[in-house]
Amino acid sequence: MIDPFGRAITYVRISVTDRCDFRCVYCMAENMTFVPKAELLSLEELDRLAGVFVELGVERIRLTGGEPLVRRNLMWLVEQLGRHVIEGRLHELTLTTNGSQLDRFAADLFRFGVRRVNVSLDTLDAAKFEAITRWGKFGKVMAGIEAARAAGLAIKINCVALKGVNEDEFDRMIAWCGEQGFDLTLIETMPMGAIDGDRTEQYLPLSLVRARLERSWTLEDIDYRTGGPARYVRVKETGGRLGFITPLTHNFCESCNRVRVTCTGTMYMCLGQEDKADLRAALRASEGNELVRQAILDGIARKPKGHDFVIDRRHNRPAVRRHMSVTGG
Ligand code: SAM
Ligand code: SF4
Repeated sequence: MIDPFGRAITYVRISVTDRCDFRCVYCMAENMTFVPKAELLSLEELDRLAGVFVELGVERIRLTGGEPLVRRNLMWLVEQLGRHVIEGRLHELTLTTNGSQLDRFAADLFRFGVRRVNVSLDTLDAAKFEAITRWGKFGKVMAGIEAARAAGLAIKINCVALKGVNEDEFDRMIAWCGEQGFDLTLIETMPMGAIDGDRTEQYLPLSLVRARLERSWTLEDIDYRTGGPARYVRVKETGGRLGFITPLTHNFCESCNRVRVTCTGTMYMCLGQEDKADLRAALRASEGNELVRQAILDGIARKPKGHDFVIDRRHNRPAVRRHMSVTGG
């Protein structure tokens, strides 16, 4: 699949639920309204849809949410999708998770063909963790990370940089990830969906963070790419990789290779734009996959050039109304 700007679309992120057992301050309001269960794609529909993407040349699928591991019976879907990996049609099946359920599911994930997971962890301080996630339990996430490692999964830690909250911890995070053998990616907050606080207060430009880190660490530019928007350096002292996702200070839309599907089967061709394609209607209109295939191709043909995220006092409104947990972060 090639979009109008010549970019090959080989990566799909699929949100399997918009629900979550945490309420991270930058992601959700405490009182969220979730989509009615009847509107969700069933696991069978998600499997069918993923199969069409694979036929169309998608090489990597990431399951996300909301919290993907709170979706009931998710392991059935992972097993189905894992077959595409085991049989060589798909290079990679991965998952982004808050880690709260990993102790239960890590071994199954590995068994069904997952080899890498991204775990979101913004702090190593238990009290701060509970303040950021509102409902999360730090010990449970640590146990989940340990279970993932024990199961053989490679781990990347995603850390959202929050001004005045975790900015004093990045040195400690780098050291910890280095010791544990985890990659680490720092992410700028993006203006998506209404939250309870003020985003301009949370926003911390990573250009600033990087300059500060360079006082304590030797950061060497490397070519490593995962096909995502992160740009990586090697931390010489730990040997670990450190990524920066900077949608606001730099955007990397020109090399975007992905689309996102929500848990209700809406495909967004860009995280930061409103245009979308209704794949659920296509899935439900007939038993065959021709309509779905066509709906995907029509959407790709409209993929926009990029997003226009801005966070400052004048633009203190979400760039898009939907939350990250709807589109799938
Ligand atoms: N619940 C899972 C998790 O937390 O990893 C998967 C979904 S979550 C929406 C995916 C990622 O998006 C997480 O790393 C989270 O920190 C990040 N995220 C959520 N809202 C964000 C925002 N407004 N700006 C930047 N990153 C955000
Ligand atoms: Fe849940 Fe992930 Fe959003 Fe936190 S970032 S509220 S864990 S979906």
